[in-house]
Amino acid sequence: MLIPMTLPLSVAAETWLPESLLPVAYLVAGILFVLSIGGLSSQKSASRGNFFGMAGMVLAVVATMLAPEVASYGVMAGAIAVGAIVGAALASRVGMTSMPQLVAALHSFVGLAAVLVGLSTYLDPGHPLQGPEAIIHGVEILLDVAIGAVTFTGSVVAWAKLDGRLSGKPLLLPGRHFLNLFLVAAIVGLSVPFLQADPGEGEVWLLAIAGVASLLGVHLVASIGGADMPVVVSLLNSYSGWTAAAAGFMLGNDLLIITGALVGSSGAILSSIMCKAMNRSIWNVVFGGFGSDGSAPAANADQPEGEWTEIPLGNLVDRILDAQEVVIVPGYGMAVGQAQRAVDSFTRDLQGRGIRVRFAIHPVAGRLPGHMNVLLAEAGVPYDIVMEMDEINGDLPKTDVVLVIGANDIVNPSAQTDPASPIAGMPVLEVWKSELTVVFKRGRGVGYAGVVNPLFFLDKTRMFFGDARDSMEKINAELKSRP
Ligand code: NDP
Repeated sequence: MLIPMTLPLSVAAETWLPESLLPVAYLVAGILFVLSIGGLSSQKSASRGNFFGMAGMVLAVVATMLAPEVASYGVMAGAIAVGAIVGAALASRVGMTSMPQLVAALHSFVGLAAVLVGLSTYLDPGHPLQGPEAIIHGVEILLDVAIGAVTFTGSVVAWAKLDGRLSGKPLLLPGRHFLNLFLVAAIVGLSVPFLQADPGEGEVWLLAIAGVASLLGVHLVASIGGADMPVVVSLLNSYSGWTAAAAGFMLGNDLLIITGALVGSSGAILSSIMCKAMNRSIWNVVFGGFGSDGSAPAANADQPEGEWTEIPLGNLVDRILDAQEVVIVPGYGMAVGQAQRAVDSFTRDLQGRGIRVRFAIHPVAGRLPGHMNVLLAEAGVPYDIVMEMDEINGDLPKTDVVLVIGANDIVNPSAQTDPASPIAGMPVLEVWKSELTVVFKRGRGVGYAGVVNPLFFLDKTRMFFGDARDSMEKINAELKSRP
């Protein structure tokens, strides 16, 4: 987000936008952002939503650049050029499977920017403030710096966990809840001398607040376990919004307040939807392992396995062609194998033969909220056959064949049967209730939560080993040879 700068001039700026037009431009940009979020609520209107979002952002950036406060276009152009080059280089290299890490890394930039802008606003407030005004401005700065620091370090830890650089296991320190409380109390305690300090003299306290908030960010996210990471990603999204809103108050920038509040509240709503989908309370997730005794293992990957039964290609295609109802459950492995186009061809072939095909989407399938919907939409799968978990779970007992393509945790029956399982209580797709369940995966690897999946060893389950795309292409080729 672009923030008006008052840095030393290298190129003198002129104001082309009359001052009175700036709030109007911000208001229009804010309306475009609201329309954008409205558009993103359904797949059909999503591209329109994206367009509104982009138009709003272009308007916001241009209006901010033309604002009277801007003192140097040289500095701004340099910063935009470096950011654009680094951003474009990174984005062109990031695969769809690494998007969650990228999102976490981008949240960390918002947090870091808020801390730096907060510090610089404190050191150079532009105009001197007195009395209650000074205290209110001080509170805005400390909120901006504290929330920004939590967002920054929390997002860095989330990035490291999602990228596999840190273990996905929760860090369950003894007395961790007291540690969180102590850190929050320390931030409140440090705020007192900061607000009492003479203007510009309290930077030591502000730096101390940033330090303690950084520790809090690390601890909050480190103590959250693997399967809860989707909620953490959306929570950090929400924090980054509140950080921007706090920066908006601090800088007196209405657009930052509007966009920050939009991002903050939509992230909070998404976190609550994800928590509901995983049957967890938001407090349970945020306060990492609340209610567990701290000794529970993060995974049961060491438990004994059962017998894996494979299904040959010819038999699998026979069973599919005999079926009237086929349900496809895509998971993270479909994204890794980039199998979505082969899955779409498969779907159209079966539909041409009069077989009903539907997709069952678990809310935390893949590694991003909506990950599977994006891939299926990209491949051209019609929206009306893509069902949410609650819509389709009841139909699975009447389904002839369920194809589980690169999914694992989201179809794990131990979530319902094993109270000691790390995913106990998480609603799952009850694929084992269908006539035949075929699981497509490369080998005997576990899913993200690191839990053994008893589904693979059930009587009505068959394994079809191989990369998801290769497997689907083999099936498509076999189908072509059948009349
Ligand atoms: P999982 O991670 O549970 O399982 C993926 C499976 O895909 C693995 O068992 C793997 O087995 C298989 N696989 C990997 N690559 C391929 C390939 N190329 N071809 C075929 N199979 C492949 O994924 P799910 O979607 O079932 O569950 C998502 C998990 O991720 C949940 O635990 C969720 O909490 C977590 N999560 C979700 C986020 C979100 O926002 N959606 C964010 C962060 C975490 P093998 O190696 O043997 O092939």
